[in-house]
Amino acid sequence: MDQIIEALESGAGSEAFAAIPVPASYRAACIEKADEKIFEGVPSHEKDPRRSVTLREVPVPDMAPDEVLVAVMASSINFNTVWSSVFEPVSTFGVLARYGRESSWAKRHDLPYQVIGSDASGVVLRTGSAVRNWRPGDRVTVHCNYVDDQDPSSHNDSMLGSNQRIWGYETNFGGLADLTVVKANQLMPKPRHLSWEEAAVNALCNSTSYRMLVSDNGARMKQGDVVLIWGATGGIGAYAVQYVLNGGGIPVGVVSSPDKADILRAMGCDAVIDRAAAGYRFWREDGTHDESEWRRLGGDIRGLVGEDPDIVFEHPGRSTFGASMYVVKKGGTVVTCAATSGYMLEFDNRFFWMRLKRLVGSHFANYQEAWAANRLIAKGMVHPVLSRTFPLAETGEAALQVHRNQHEGKIGVRCLAPRDGMGIDDPEMRERVGEAALTRFRTK
Ligand code: NAP
Repeated sequence: MDQIIEALESGAGSEAFAAIPVPASYRAACIEKADEKIFEGVPSHEKDPRRSVTLREVPVPDMAPDEVLVAVMASSINFNTVWSSVFEPVSTFGVLARYGRESSWAKRHDLPYQVIGSDASGVVLRTGSAVRNWRPGDRVTVHCNYVDDQDPSSHNDSMLGSNQRIWGYETNFGGLADLTVVKANQLMPKPRHLSWEEAAVNALCNSTSYRMLVSDNGARMKQGDVVLIWGATGGIGAYAVQYVLNGGGIPVGVVSSPDKADILRAMGCDAVIDRAAAGYRFWREDGTHDESEWRRLGGDIRGLVGEDPDIVFEHPGRSTFGASMYVVKKGGTVVTCAATSGYMLEFDNRFFWMRLKRLVGSHFANYQEAWAANRLIAKGMVHPVLSRTFPLAETGEAALQVHRNQHEGKIGVRCLAPRDGMGIDDPEMRERVGEAALTRFRTK
């Protein structure tokens, strides 16, 4: 692995990377099938990913003709890292077993361990015989849309593919490791002004927010739209704020602490709601909704920006969904990609149909959307929201921080990169974009 770092540091060409021998095994952050039941009876918030995520040596898998082997310099913690590590809402080993029955190549993924992780930045080491556009030595980021492109259902919008999967969550050989095997069409050029860890945190969350707000498949935000963003300094929310500001919209950011409120204001989001200070109680103790609390939230939004939101960027789920569906403007859109606090959602349909609202379900991003979102990062128009990094050996601790909502923005994980700050290929562009914008979330 040292040879990879040396080759990167010396600016070596494609032949040099192709000549680096591939080891028989590599370090990977894994969950184990044998641990599927370790959290039985433990309340969700007390499930500790440090118990389930272990660092182990795993064999390098065979590479299919349409795949590439990537040396991973850095990766990131996504909320799906939390889901897989606490085996909620389902254990991912059932998903891998089903995938394994699809083909002989898919069978590789059905193992008693899963290498988790759905983001990566790194360098291509080997390409399969059918790969045309990438070569050893290419600096890349990896997006997580894992699609069988021979299946006609994926040809218009690859997220609609009948066997579309999220790499590193619904497949094996994820990005929280020193090596990964991915499909060549998951690769995107690494933004040259970013370090490895800054480049590693964007693909999943940034592309998700792009589809939700900007793409024709999402809420189709227009100039002047008021957008209520839950978790506005979290992984997807922090990119959503940038898209709203870039697109001439008016973000109303919801966070849960004064520190997070300060970050939002520094990003240029003037309308901020601290939900902890406001103390909304959308659900009563007896499990019924308190409509007056929905109205209070609506009043707070009007107090800040003078009108109701055209769009609500929804993902907390059960705790906020009824309120989101209520406060969105007549004719407005709630776009949702998740349900962190619970997926059985309730809302008052009277306010939905009589006010002609729309609900849009959204999931990650198709190839084109992921590429468009990466291009905006590469152009310095959207910035990484990296707050801190952990070494690969501490992946469980890093996932715990996200599980407990103790983080801001994104947490990066150093895989082969020995320290932060490596991999910046265009320092002049970095200077033009400015450290302030690039490190706004940085705490450690
Ligand atoms: P994150 O970094 O943990 O951020 C989520 C934010 O939501 C937190 O910072 C928190 O902000 C806020 N929040 C948490 N619980 C809340 C509650 N009960 N009520 C109101 N706000 C709450 O996670 P993320 O990466 O942004 O992901 C958010 C969700 O989207 C996760 O469930 C994830 O699985 C999902 N997701 C889905 C896709 C997809 O493709 N479908 C892609 C990415 C993420 P405050 O405490 O500051 O309010």
